[in-house]
Amino acid sequence: MANRANHRVLLGCSLLCAAAIACVPTASQSAPDGVPGQASSPAAVSSFPTASDARLAGDGKQTRFVLDLDKPVQFRAFALADPYRVVVDLPQLSFKLAAGVGSAGRGLVKAFRYGLVMPGGSRIVFDLTGPAKIAKSYVLEAANGQPPRLVIELEEIDRTAFVQMLAPESRPELRPAIADANAAVAQGDSTAALKPGQAPDTRPLIVIDPGHGGIDNGTQAGGGDFMEKHLVLGFGLALRDRIEKTGKYRVVMTRTDDTFVPLNDRVKVARSQSAALFVSIHADALPRGEGDAQGATIYTLSDKASDAEAERLAETENKSDAIGGVNLTDEPTEVADILIDLAQRETKTFSNRFARLLMGEMKQTVRMHKHPLKSAGFRVLKAPDVPSVLVELGYVSNKGDREYLVSENWRNKTVGSMTQAIDAFFAKRVVTAAPGK
Ligand SMILES: [Zn+2]
Repeated sequence: MANRANHRVLLGCSLLCAAAIACVPTASQSAPDGVPGQASSPAAVSSFPTASDARLAGDGKQTRFVLDLDKPVQFRAFALADPYRVVVDLPQLSFKLAAGVGSAGRGLVKAFRYGLVMPGGSRIVFDLTGPAKIAKSYVLEAANGQPPRLVIELEEIDRTAFVQMLAPESRPELRPAIADANAAVAQGDSTAALKPGQAPDTRPLIVIDPGHGGIDNGTQAGGGDFMEKHLVLGFGLALRDRIEKTGKYRVVMTRTDDTFVPLNDRVKVARSQSAALFVSIHADALPRGEGDAQGATIYTLSDKASDAEAERLAETENKSDAIGGVNLTDEPTEVADILIDLAQRETKTFSNRFARLLMGEMKQTVRMHKHPLKSAGFRVLKAPDVPSVLVELGYVSNKGDREYLVSENWRNKTVGSMTQAIDAFFAKRVVTAAPGK
């Protein structure tokens, strides 16, 4: 066990160390517009610097990325290995780029994506075709009729040079940023805060986890018009409101806006608040050419996927961290594996019971998948002491499902049946409703 734990620590460290950093202060040293650590309100959006155009130039030896801005910004750029990526962290930007920009690469860049990673912080992630270094990176002030521009120049290098570039001191300060995002997430819900002197609220706490967010769009349909991250956030908020209306539970959301939250942090929200139930909300899509499927599916955690489709789906959902530019797959867990195993056995029973109750309620009102109960190794379901399920509301690749998913009536019915299942679940486990830690 100890060996294994050490191995994981080393892996986790090498992943974090696997980054070369280029920190470039620019003429504009002021804090980014907007208040970091606070959820952005729509009214504040206009004050964020705007990115109006992005383009790539060059070839497989040297590739240049240019982002047009309306004012200079500070940024931080660094490379990551396995897979090769370059990450650019920026203050929160308002991206007004043409739809589909970034999906086609050029030279050393396979593709790139952009979005919020936390309130106050945006990120651009470049997927590279191979190892490359950031030869130069800078922000140009407006000049000669050109707007201010962020420029990243990449140069091809070999793997050996790439690895040598990754000195320990070059390790990016990713962790504090993630911690901040997590704190903001926790703050985002007023029910989570307890004022001094107030009696503790002992009602069971339910964590609702809208999947994806920010830079991670989730599945998409209709050329990007339909994004999983928006759909599941809307659904999650509606579910929260319905559950809170019963007055019987406290609810915490892992995100309440379009922010990227790493998978581990979602699990941490549930664990740190001793949640009694964790419900992750997603919408699936079948890859092109793999037929059609429809209806909602409820997933629980298992080492072995219940079928090939469940395995494929867990793989897709687990990619979220890599999409966000951060890959903490091998981050050491806080608890020894053996303790996890013990706690997980009991938790698994509760998770499965909730999944069955949920299916029983949902099938009366909602179209379900032909095999509605499945299991696979979803990272977001891995809290060893919090019963957890992941609900795929339907398939955005199916026209019928897509119509349901955007229908107010369907959503009302679905959050209603989910709330009934939650009631049934807690009615049966009154004694263990508030697990101690
Ligand atoms: Zn998803």
